[in-house]
Amino acid sequence: MNLLLIAGHGAGDPGAVWNGRREADETRRLAADVQQALSGRCTVARYPEDRNAYSDYQAGRLTQTAQFSQYDAVLELHFNACAAGAADGKPKGVEAYVTTTETETALASALCGALEPLGFPNRGVKRQNWAVIAAARRQGVPAVLLEVCFLDDGDDMALYDRRYDEVVAALADAAAETLGWKGEKPMTYEEFTAMMERYERERAAAPAADWSAQARAWCETGGVLNDGRYGSHVTREELAQALYNLAGKGR
Ligand SMILES: [Zn+2]
Repeated sequence: MNLLLIAGHGAGDPGAVWNGRREADETRRLAADVQQALSGRCTVARYPEDRNAYSDYQAGRLTQTAQFSQYDAVLELHFNACAAGAADGKPKGVEAYVTTTETETALASALCGALEPLGFPNRGVKRQNWAVIAAARRQGVPAVLLEVCFLDDGDDMALYDRRYDEVVAALADAAAETLGWKGEKPMTYEEFTAMMERYERERAAAPAADWSAQARAWCETGGVLNDGRYGSHVTREELAQALYNLAGKGR
């Protein structure tokens, strides 16, 4: 599974700015950490950090730079803004956009749902043909624009800062689960059984240790336990038989 992460804004466009924070910086920091959190699970590529995908779109360079068709999904990160300003004690939350014709909404709703338990109200999946995701969609690639939370809401950003590591992990887990894990195929019951049988055989064949020599000799001489499978697990059935033998009834 191949994901392209695009950090919104940049290359001179700060995006939303509030309280000394710039959206372009926040999207890049988050994109880097989500990519890191997905390593080994999904193949994640980043749109060039020093570029602004939207201005590349306007200049007619987006699809050439992004090469959308080599990816299974595109995720564009943004932070919302509503000129809210001062904290009122209520976080405003997370929302995601897909294009008006998108049929694959699982990633969008999984990403929103992932932040909900952390305290971000889930504003849900909305539809709008934002330039970059619409361009990806025209190349046949499902695309999501995620507005992580409101950069200009004091409550959102306090929550975001406090739970940043969990936000990264939640987004990465949601993406990995929705897009599928790379390389690993689920084990069938038949494969599991075959491995268990081999494991049990190997245990049974392992030589017994010296510390138990006296006890083993006693068991074997007394006919309590004498099949030699000393590395094997004992079933309750075998225990019953051994006790029966010990009582002198098995011989
Ligand atoms: Zn933005």
